Formats: sequence, C-alpha cells, structure tokens
Amino acid sequence: MNVLVINCGSSSLKYQVIHSESEEVLAKGICERIGIDGRIVYQPKGGEKEITESPMPTHTEAVKMVLDALIHPVTGVLKSLDEIDAVGHRLVHGGEKFAASVLIDEEVIAAVEECSDLAPLHNPANLIGVRACQEVLKGVPMVGVFDTAFHQTMPMEAYLYGIPYEYYEKYKVRKYGFHGTSHSYVSKRAAEILDKPYESLKTIVCHLGNGASVCAVKGGKSIDTSMGLSPLEGLVMGTRSGDIDPSAVEYIAKKENLDMEGIMKVLNKDSGVYGLSGLSSDFRDLDSAAQEGNERAKTARDVFCYRVAKYIGSYAAAMNGVDVICFTAGVGENDGRVRESICSYLGFLGIEIDSEANKKRGEETTLSTQDSKVAVLLVPTDEELAICRETVAIVS
Ligand code: AMP
Repeated sequence: MNVLVINCGSSSLKYQVIHSESEEVLAKGICERIGIDGRIVYQPKGGEKEITESPMPTHTEAVKMVLDALIHPVTGVLKSLDEIDAVGHRLVHGGEKFAASVLIDEEVIAAVEECSDLAPLHNPANLIGVRACQEVLKGVPMVGVFDTAFHQTMPMEAYLYGIPYEYYEKYKVRKYGFHGTSHSYVSKRAAEILDKPYESLKTIVCHLGNGASVCAVKGGKSIDTSMGLSPLEGLVMGTRSGDIDPSAVEYIAKKENLDMEGIMKVLNKDSGVYGLSGLSSDFRDLDSAAQEGNERAKTARDVFCYRVAKYIGSYAAAMNGVDVICFTAGVGENDGRVRESICSYLGFLGIEIDSEANKKRGEETTLSTQDSKVAVLLVPTDEELAICRETVAIVS
C-alpha cells in the first residue's frame, strides 16, 4: 500500500509517500510560502532534491503540485494517482474527543473544527490540507492522526490544572500534551531495542527539537507530559518560554504596555533559548557561540538542560521509577553536549553515560554504560512513518 503522509501548516505543507510493506520513503518534500508566492521541494528516493518556484495561491494548488511531481514521467515515483491508496494527515488537537487515529469523514471534520478554539494556529491549517486532498484525490481514504491522542490516557491528577473546576467543565481547560505520535513511536521502539515487553516498561521520552516536550510512558500509556493546553507549557524551547509564573506574565505586560496578543507573542516567539541568549534558537549556533566564550549562549543551554532534567526527575517520581530514558528530535538526536549535561543531573537514578557512545548522532544508540541502572537510548523519531502505520491500521 502507498500512503501519502501530509503535515499541513498555515503556509506550508510537508509530504512523504511511503510504501507501507517495505516502509520505504518513495518521495518527500515540502511546499512553502503557500498564499505568498510558492516553492516546492521534491526529492524522489535515491534522487536529487528539486526546488521549483511556482505560484501557489492556496493549499489545493500545493497538493496538485505535489501530485504532479509524484507522477512526473521522468522524476515521478508513481505511474498514476491510482497508486495512492490512502492519505494520513497529521492533526494537532483532538481535544478529549479523539483518543486514537480516525478515518476522516464529515463528522470527524466537524469535531476537529470544534477543537480549533484550543489550537487556532494549527487545526484550521490541518483541515485546509484535508479539504485540499479530498478535492484532488476523490474517494481515497483519509486518516487523521492526532498529536494529542496518545496523551488521552493521562489520569486526572496529571491533566487537571489547579484552577476552578468549572473552567474544565465549561471550556475543557486542561493539559492535553503534544508530540504524541513521536512519544508513542519512540517509546515503542525503545522496548523493541531493549527486547522487553512494552507493557512492562517505565519510559521517559525527551523529544527535544525546536518545540520540545518530555513524556512519562508507563506500561505503554502516556501518564504525564510537559506540554499543556497548548504547546507553550513545559520545557524552555527554541523560542517558547515553557513554564512561567503567570504573575510574571502580568508584570511584564504592564511594564511593557503589551496587550494579550503582544505578551503571547513574547512567550511564543521571543523567548526560550532564543530570548535567553539574544542570539539564536538553534542549538548549533548556541554551541559554537558558547565555545567562543559567549556566556549568555552557555546560560541559555544550561537553563534548557536543567529544566529537562527536572522533568525527568519528576516523571521518575510519578512512575515510581524509570527503566529507560530516550532522547529524540533535532537536539536530542544530534547534540551530545546537551544529552551529557542533562544526564549529569541524574546520577541519583544510577545513570552512567558512555561518553564514546554519546558522540553518536541521528542513529539508534545505547548511550548508557553496562553498569547504568537505567538504560539511556538515542532513538531517532519518525513521525511520518508512525502516521503511515496508523493510516494502514485504520484503512485495513
Ligand atoms: P526539530 O524541531 O526536531 O526539527 O529540531 C530542530 C532543532 O534541532 C534545530 O533548531 C537545532 O536547534 C537542533 N539541531 C539540528 N541539528 C543539530 C545538530 N547537528 N547539532 C545540534 N543541534 C541540532
């Protein structure tokens, strides 16, 4: 079965075509600047990356361009569009309605629209991608895979905020969590690597990318995660503040004369390691600056690592122990210094890191020593493959 995996944002659309039996990526790429001017990047398996500038007024044109590239007589990977058997869509917020992936129909679309209040930047954009695919690929089954679904197993004590209960009842204000597809994929993969039953393990997954979150997975179920109602809570991220005293928010807003939109922009776009360093949200830049003696770059990285370590400690407490800690996503897969710094706080758990193994990037590696009481693994995430697998499971 060939699955087209779509991750649609407000002005971009990432795609992959995966052959589900071999799990081979036949082609991948991204449409960018949709509605502005338009640019498609297309890379067939084993082939060169092609970049074409072309007007893309709406997502429908973007989807059409992706499909044209896929069936191009020379560089295409499919003979015709009939070879696309299903489409898997990344959907960000499923609220409390979706605890698993679903076959998309009008009822599901309406329910996702209802959750848009909770994710105004993401859900409408995701649904535009669904509509565009429905228009161009009539009759092809579409599956929605939610970022929030994996965390619907969290118990009430983990997902309720300490605010009047009526806000949960009336407005569903609670912790939802995100990156669920990645946390689920990585925690399962860790069980396979360790050759232990998934249900027997207490796992902590650190998804450390530009957006970052930690998840406690007990017996194969998410029991807590660091992101909340929105992806702003939790870790200090590339440009997001993560946890902060709400009074600090009010104080800054008053001092800087900012309205709600202004202060939310500060917390989402101007904060995190970018705001702390005053330099960059990219850990590669922070690393080189820190090595050249830039103290603020070093401090930003230290704040990031300390926060991750604190979450790991609290999740070890929440699960009454931990068997395995996984590092994944851009920073987690590539930045050995960050991993080492985080693990330097975790000696109390009996964790020992093999500094040679910790030099590895982007490939499955056991980072802990033989004597370590907790296994520490580098597990590259693959959200597209996870979406493909979910899609096949639902469609079959
Ligand atoms: P993601 O959101 O998972 O795509 O991660 C993106 C982030 O990963 C970038 O902003 C960088 O901070 C980080 N990253 C990517 N490659 C490296 C690398 N080789 N070394 C350190 N950090 C990296």
